[in-house]
Amino acid sequence: MKINLAKSAGFCFGVTRAIDIAYKTLAVNKNVYMLGNIVHNEVVAQKLEELGLKKIKKLGCGKNKVFLIRAHGASLNIIGQASKLEYTIVDATCPMVKEIHKIGRAAEDKGNTVIIIGDKKHDEVRGIIGQLKKRSIVIENAENIPRDKLKKIKKASIIVQSTQNLEKVLQILELLQPQIKELKFFNTICQPTRLKQQEMKNMPLENDVIIIVGSKTSANTKRLYEISKSLNNRSYWVQSRKDIKPVWFKGANSVGITAGASTPEYTTAEVIDYIKKIT
Ligand code: SF4
Repeated sequence: MKINLAKSAGFCFGVTRAIDIAYKTLAVNKNVYMLGNIVHNEVVAQKLEELGLKKIKKLGCGKNKVFLIRAHGASLNIIGQASKLEYTIVDATCPMVKEIHKIGRAAEDKGNTVIIIGDKKHDEVRGIIGQLKKRSIVIENAENIPRDKLKKIKKASIIVQSTQNLEKVLQILELLQPQIKELKFFNTICQPTRLKQQEMKNMPLENDVIIIVGSKTSANTKRLYEISKSLNNRSYWVQSRKDIKPVWFKGANSVGITAGASTPEYTTAEVIDYIKKIT
């Protein structure tokens, strides 16, 4: 059976950068704290915890401690709290996410309401909301557009969670356009996400089976799975080789494999080795 690995599989530059910052910070500091995981991958998070990174739910006294901001970014409130509590702040926010913050703030300064297309509960979206001065509107999908709220808006700017699916975003945009007089759209889906999604539009049509490797907490992995599944019913989302079932490959001549932006290379390599073994 032929195994085709997507060119864009695995870490994006934002994740590589954040992990690198975490390793470098841990190399020179014993007390490094973080709210949540550096990126949405349990294996990566565990390795860093083994090196001493401490995951906390709330900020405490920050004297002689480092507060590491993860790739998804953080709200102004959290950053303000951390500096008041005297943490040394090390910022691993992806530059692409920072760019979204910048666009959102500039739009606000020009008197626009900011509309965010993204998952309300995702850390990146929470960070974006928390970087803005005024209340923004989050739209998750075309089925849940808050028409009442939109009626009152004259000027709005749309920004997008970096890992959204472009087609879904464009659907929402089409529905919003007739409702708001002055509407600006900023496509802030990041380049690595675009490349991954582009590949996923072809691979499921060119392979019998598709395997997507990544954590169930990873938004960009979920998106890849959704695209793949819509094109090829034999698409499977696995966190590691342990999730793979030999029956998936019955009669298949080819398998396409990709991995989310926070999936380490060794997890994907293990998956490939295992598939080779069982087929
Ligand atoms: S997926 Fe995009 S925004 Fe998120 S860390 Fe990677 S490059 Fe940055």
